[in-house]
Amino acid sequence: MTHTEGYLKFSCHLTTEALQIPTALFTPLNHWRRELWLKHLISSYPDGIGYGNISVRVPRSNQFYISGTATGKIPELDQTHYPLVEKCDPAQNVLWCRGHIRASAESMSHAAVYEANPDIGSVVHIHNRELWERYLDILPTTDKTVEYGTPAMAAEISRIMSNPAILDRKIFVMGGHEEGIMAFGKTVEEAARVIFELVKN
Ligand SMILES: [Zn+2]
Repeated sequence: MTHTEGYLKFSCHLTTEALQIPTALFTPLNHWRRELWLKHLISSYPDGIGYGNISVRVPRSNQFYISGTATGKIPELDQTHYPLVEKCDPAQNVLWCRGHIRASAESMSHAAVYEANPDIGSVVHIHNRELWERYLDILPTTDKTVEYGTPAMAAEISRIMSNPAILDRKIFVMGGHEEGIMAFGKTVEEAARVIFELVKN
């Protein structure tokens, strides 16, 4: 299992603060999170462990609001469920955020997508076994030996995002993260619709 060598445990520094997310960001974020939740694309497993997350970029910055850790089972979120990710250090697997709850290790993957292109305004990460199996190696797919939540995954996402073709597809499969798919777009709606198109086909 050489690929786990040098694994750095994810740590998230939270500054507890009541955030007021601008309405123009919060409304579409929460609306599309609910739509994805209703289709079980963001939700929780029978053991209660949540999966999937959605984020929106703070315009003209590398900061973003993301659905926080352990929110998967909640049908409808509110302002307190979306911490602001202020800064990431992918090499050290460390992240700084503000709000009521922590951002998950998967925030590092969102950060790597935003970093790749300033026009990307939203990222959606879902879990779905059927879609994952159907589109593995059909859509752009990250290296199967690279696991979720590791510095290597952030590097692998940067690598896959450097392919200009991916900016048209706006989606990739996470080869080393079973059931994991990521989509992105200029807006939350665009990112969510990339996923819903996949579900329809
Ligand atoms: Zn995941």
